[in-house]
Amino acid sequence: MSKPCVAIIGGGPYGLSLASHLAARNVAHRIFGRPMAFWSQIARAGSRRYLKSYCFGTNISSPHPGSTFADYNGPRGLETFEPCSIENFASYGLWFQEHNVDWTEPVDVANVSWRRQSFVLTLDNGEEVEASDVIVATGLANFARMPQALQALPGTAAMHSAWIESFAAFQGLEVAVIGSGQSALEAAALLREAGAAPRLLIRKPSTLWMIQGSRTRTPWQRIRWPISALGGSPKAWALSQLPGAFHRLPPCLRARFIENLLPPEGAWWLRERVETLVPVEHDTTVVEARENGHRVSLRLRRGGNKSDRELLVDRVIAGTGYEVNVERIPFLEPDLRHAIARQGTAPRLDASFQSSVPGLRFVGPASSMSFGPVFRFVAGAEYTARTIATALSRTSAAYT
Ligand SMILES: Cc1cc2nc3c(=O)[nH]c(=O)nc-3n(C[C@H](O)[C@H](O)[C@H](O)COP(=O)(O)OP(=O)(O)OC[C@H]3O[C@@H](n4cnc5c(N)ncnc54)[C@H](O)[C@@H]3O)c2cc1C
Repeated sequence: MSKPCVAIIGGGPYGLSLASHLAARNVAHRIFGRPMAFWSQIARAGSRRYLKSYCFGTNISSPHPGSTFADYNGPRGLETFEPCSIENFASYGLWFQEHNVDWTEPVDVANVSWRRQSFVLTLDNGEEVEASDVIVATGLANFARMPQALQALPGTAAMHSAWIESFAAFQGLEVAVIGSGQSALEAAALLREAGAAPRLLIRKPSTLWMIQGSRTRTPWQRIRWPISALGGSPKAWALSQLPGAFHRLPPCLRARFIENLLPPEGAWWLRERVETLVPVEHDTTVVEARENGHRVSLRLRRGGNKSDRELLVDRVIAGTGYEVNVERIPFLEPDLRHAIARQGTAPRLDASFQSSVPGLRFVGPASSMSFGPVFRFVAGAEYTARTIATALSRTSAAYT
């Protein structure tokens, strides 16, 4: 077995940012995972997919200049404000990895066990790696939230929007799409464009759409409505600029911010691909779902009305978001999982992203309950990478 070092699990924006910052501080580490696998899968599933975030808010972080998303896009004549395509972002990530983190090992981690003083990672290729510290940077992969009513259906009949490998596979099918956020609205647009017949089922009384940000802004507009990675409001700006302050808030206040700051809403550029083109039923909840031959029968309830109605469709897609839940991280051994203190179902983290298990850290969406909504987005990678690299440069082995 090799000498213990820091192990990063996941080669997405957070894992790559961390590796880049650890290398700059000469902290010995290894990074495991297929680079940008999550984003490449989203891009492959359908064309015309765009980021909801601005170009400036979607940087993979490096301590060296010349590695921002705009640095990649500008010389190639690609969009440098919004909307940037997801395919373009996946290519940027691969370029970043090649230029900044070419030591990434494209193998998944199958298991992490805990030996109190250190960790042992078992890789998919059977190799065992001893690590002094482990940083879990595996994004949203394991956290897709399926509504209770759909949980008994087989995966071929009902699936989460995150698991779709090809929207073209739905051609000719009637599909119920549940949810009112970007994932559900985008899925409905992509299904329609792929020749399916989607129908949106939305619990809320209306659909919210974002307003297009202005590329040129007066100094007064910049002060009054500062644009940040989370959008154009002073509260959003404060949350993206001051994650340390968010971390010091009492847990109940943090939870309230997380719930209320970013309601489900669609990007402005998606609106014309959905409104008037996709049938929508607002105020509608799916209370039951069962297989009906090769189809799915949904029992729908409108508002307070108790007289339900039946909807028969070929498939159901849940665009119902994500819930960070330590219990659902499959590669952490049960005794390690149980030792992790929680805030709700998420890990409770200290100011350097460390959990109650010394040496075990969680970043990206898994850290958003502790550090704020910006950490559900790529924009949180810079703060994360700097903070952890500073902490580990004090305690970990350097390259020799
Ligand atoms: C449809 C969609 C659109 C989105 N749009 C935006 C947007 O516009 N802007 C934005 O900022 N955010 C967006 N997000 C949120 C986005 O997922 C996160 O911001 C971002 O991916 C976080 O980066 P990450 O590195 O934590 O995770 P990821 O990018 O998911 O990277 C995690 C990596 O870990 C790997 N991994 C998982 N398990 C293992 C394992 N056992 N071993 C090794 N590797 C493993 C995965 O393959 C993956 O490549 C979107 C999410 C979705 C689903």
